[in-house]
Parts: sequence; C-alpha cells; structure tokens
Amino acid sequence: MNRETVHTGRVTRRTLLAATAALLAGADLAEARRLTPKQVRALKAAVRGRVLTPSSAGYDAARVVFNRRYDGVKPPAVVQVKDAADVRAVVEWANRFEIPLVSRSGGHGYNGDSTSATAVVVDLNALNRISYRDGTATLGPGARTLAVYTALARHGAMIPAGSCPTVGVGGLVLGGGMGLAGRAYGLTLDRVTSFDAVTADGKRRRVDDGDALFWALRGGGGSFAIVTAIRVKTPHVTHAAFFSISYPRAAREEALAAWDALAPHAPRALTAILTLDSGGASAFGQYLGSEPALRALIRPLGGTPVVGSADYLTVQKRWVGAKPARTTFAASSLYVRKPLTHAARTAFLGAADTGAALILDAYGGAINRPHRADTAFPHRDERFSVQVLSYAPIMVAKARVRHARRLIAPYGSGAYANYADPDLTNALRAYYGANLPRLRRIKHELDPANRFRPAQGIR
Ligand SMILES: Cc1cc2nc3c(=O)[nH]c(=O)nc-3n(C[C@H](O)[C@H](O)[C@H](O)COP(=O)(O)OP(=O)(O)OC[C@H]3O[C@@H](n4cnc5c(N)ncnc54)[C@H](O)[C@@H]3O)c2cc1C
Repeated sequence: MNRETVHTGRVTRRTLLAATAALLAGADLAEARRLTPKQVRALKAAVRGRVLTPSSAGYDAARVVFNRRYDGVKPPAVVQVKDAADVRAVVEWANRFEIPLVSRSGGHGYNGDSTSATAVVVDLNALNRISYRDGTATLGPGARTLAVYTALARHGAMIPAGSCPTVGVGGLVLGGGMGLAGRAYGLTLDRVTSFDAVTADGKRRRVDDGDALFWALRGGGGSFAIVTAIRVKTPHVTHAAFFSISYPRAAREEALAAWDALAPHAPRALTAILTLDSGGASAFGQYLGSEPALRALIRPLGGTPVVGSADYLTVQKRWVGAKPARTTFAASSLYVRKPLTHAARTAFLGAADTGAALILDAYGGAINRPHRADTAFPHRDERFSVQVLSYAPIMVAKARVRHARRLIAPYGSGAYANYADPDLTNALRAYYGANLPRLRRIKHELDPANRFRPAQGIR
C-alpha cells in the first residue's frame, strides 16, 4: 500500500459508535480507505463498467458478499467490470497509483477474501458467459454453478462442481471445486484445460499446460492473476441415481463407522457425504450408474434409504435446493487420512454436540488420482474432508466452530481453501501444504508488488 496515494477517512463520533457496535456484535469490520478524487477520476475514465465509491448510490449493495459476517468491510471502491478489457484497465490503473486489488466472482468466499478495507474490488459478476463446443465449456468467472449445470445439460454435458447454486465458478475453480460427481470426475480444477487471465503486469494471457501460472491457478486462489475465462473439459453424463438416509441421534456412531468404511473406497461412480449434528446424522450421495446397483452398494450404510434416479439436471437441482439468502456463519475444515478409531468417532460426536454441524465429503476416486504436486491443490491422499459449520450470531458461531475443530484436530490435518477459515492458525500451510513454497516463488515472480491481495492470499 502506498500511503501517499490512499488516505484513511476521518474518524467521527458516528463512525466510532458504529465501529464499537459492530465489534460488540462480533462482526469483522474494517473502515474504508478512500481514494483521492484524482484516483477516482482516472479509474472512471479507464473502464466502461461502473465504479462505486463510498459516496456513490448503490455502493452498499455492491460491496457486500454472501457471508454477512463481512458486512462491516468497506472497500475504497468496487469496479463492476464489463469485460476483460476493463479488467486490464483496472490493473493498469492500480499499477499507476499503487493500489491493491481483490477479485470477486460470486462473492461466496467463506473468509471474506473477495472484499477488503484497503484493496479495490474487481467485481467480475458480469463476466458470466457460458458456451459449449465439442466437449469443452468456456465459462466466465461470474457464471454461477446452477446456471452452468443448466446450460451444459442441454448438450448432455456437465462439470464436477459443488452444490450451492449461486457460487461463482471463478472462486470455486481457483480453490478446488468439490461436489457430488467428485469421486467420478475429480475437482472442478482437475477438468480445466486453460484460463484467460490478466496478470499484474497488465497483460492478457492464455494460460495452459506447461505454464507455472496454470499450475498455481489450479488450487492456489486469487493471489496470482485475475481470471477472465475458464475452459473446462465436460464429461457426457445424462442420468444419475441418488440416495439419502436419515439416522437418529442414537445411531450416529454406527452411521459414521459404516460411512467411513464405505465412502472413501467405494467405486468412483459413487460420491457420498455424511452430515452429523447434535440431532442425528444423514448420508446422501450420487451414483453415476443404475438405481439397483446403488441400492446394493449402500447396503452397508444401514438405515432406511430413499433411492431414486433422474436426468442429471434434475438430480443437481435436488442437491442445490432453493437459492440461498445472504447469511452469517463461521466455518472451518480438516482432512482425515486414516480410518477412524473408536476414540476418533467419539471425538467427532463430541464435535457434533458443540452446536456446529460436521459435513464429511468422501475423497478417493478421481480426486486422489493426481499427485499432490501436479496442481497447487495438495490434498490428494485424503480419505475425506470435514467441514465444520455454524450458522449463528458470529461470536457464537466462531466459538462453536473453534471448539468443534479442536476436538477433531488430533485425527486430521490441513484445511480446504474453499472452506477457508479466517481464524485458522497457519492457514496457508493448512491450505497448500508442501505446495506453499512453490506458490510463494510464483507469486514473487509474477506479482512482486503484491498487486492481488486477498486477505488470506500468498504474499
Ligand atoms: C452456501 C455455500 C455452499 C458452498 N458449497 C460448496 C461445495 O459444494 N463445494 C465446494 O467446493 N465449495 C463450496 N463452497 C465454497 C466455494 O467454492 C468457495 O467459497 C468459492 O471460493 C466461492 O467462489 P466465489 O467466486 O463465489 O467467491 P468469491 O468470494 O468471489 O471469491 C473467492 C476467492 O477467489 C478469488 N477470486 C474469485 N474470482 C476470481 C477471479 N476471477 N480471478 C482471481 N481470483 C478470483 C477471490 O479474490 C477470493 O479470494 C460453498 C460456499 C457457500 C457460501
């Protein structure tokens, strides 16, 4: 940050009171640093999209992200870029005035990394084009998961991705992209063949195999470039079978043991997820095969399964449900490599009794096929990830998540960058493991001035 070019707004009684109230409520708050009038004029002249500063009408709607936890964060400006040329213009402007930038696609980052009190937000929501040709989809980073599933289904095609309809593919693919086709087809990033990106030198580049940036963008997050398009190989899938099982509280340990024995080693066509909370457990999943074969496969999970099958898009709509509203939550994650012992299962049930929920995503299959150094995403030897999640007023949610994670921490390591936890100690080591030194070298080479600055980014 160049202190000469960005100055902090004056502290008034009103801002002080607002800050105190927000801190008492536990919100992650940061007051905006303001751009100078000259900087704002230059930015508006450089781009075709809208530039919103704290004094603009519409600024508050433009600055907030999915997690209300970050509603107190006020960026110096939000630039709603119209196209890749706008992105390039913003980077050139930022270089001229030495202003840091953060990118935003869908705004669903758990850690609020697509907003900032000090960096200008490059909002890529309008870059949401989805096109398809000969087994490859070209996706704008602002395209949302359900829109992608819907557009590709017309061609009998799909991408493996998550189950929130409004997550942006930009953030999803840069961190991983785990979903119910994960064990069959890998993470979203495993299907990427190339990116279009604007690098810190202001150049537009096609980034593909053999390029260090291609390696870094597949799992290393938003520290390296601004991605303006993603090309993804799309498997031909038209139907899927699905199941769900609910277990009462008394059956939680049995369900956890059965899921742990089956899900990480099942045929790769099956991806199964287990959720645990204080009320009970549920297992659900998707199988790219027939309904009778799925019934036979999940028999060891016990309970009374609901099993069905449908065209692929209908099954995805079943997982994504209704469009989620902005909400407040805290979350963390952990990877588990070894089968759970009785002591580990007891710890998991204790964690599920803290008020936080645990969501276990089975790995193995296509997710574990690449070597951990093949892409920046390092978690290729894990049995499953555990997401620890609490929807509650933020101080309560944070305490529950911290408590639950502490209970299960002896049985795992690492963390998933897409379930990013802003309160995690040694977060970068947890997200990137042994790939962190290489990511730091690439960052140093491509962005020595640290232009792209997500809060939990690579410095
Ligand atoms: C309700 C919900 C459900 C979810 N379900 C799943 C799931 O099933 N599976 C899963 O894997 N994940 C899931 N996630 C996590 C999600 O994948 C990550 O939060 C992802 O980073 C969100 O992407 P985004 O573009 O919406 O977020 P953003 O907040 O816009 O971006 C996230 C990060 O990526 C960077 N970034 C975004 N776009 C670009 C770009 N074009 N160029 C450079 N950097 C960029 C941002 O700077 C930020 O650091 C879920 C999240 C939510 C809130």
